Amino acid sequence: MKTIIEKLKDYFENTPEEKIQEGWDRTKEHDNHGITVDEVEKHLTNRRNCENQYEYVDREKEIQELCKQVKETAIDFWDNPNGPYEYKCPFCNHVERRGGDEPVLSNLSEIEHETNCAYLIAKDLSTNINN
Ligand SMILES: [Zn+2]
Repeated sequence: MKTIIEKLKDYFENTPEEKIQEGWDRTKEHDNHGITVDEVEKHLTNRRNCENQYEYVDREKEIQELCKQVKETAIDFWDNPNGPYEYKCPFCNHVERRGGDEPVLSNLSEIEHETNCAYLIAKDLSTNINN
């Protein structure tokens, strides 16, 4: 769909000048009442900015929810009967082994990750956010 600006551009590019002047002259009687084109444009710009702002806020909320869920994902645990416990990141598959005498790990923050791990990205994206 064309924007108002595109429609206006089409009109001014494809209409002979005298036709434009005729149309313009017919608007003279309205010059002294009603709202101005500037006011309409200002209103439309404000509305567009608000809509963009809402989309941005929604997107940011979704990103934060995604980060929250990734960060709260449980660590994969395998009680290997033939060796140390195995802890695995479900995102980057990094594995760490701990003996039975070492403290039990329960959180993804307690193991190493590959540099492109979704857990690290989620941690990064949710820093400096106040929630
Ligand atoms: Zn990881």
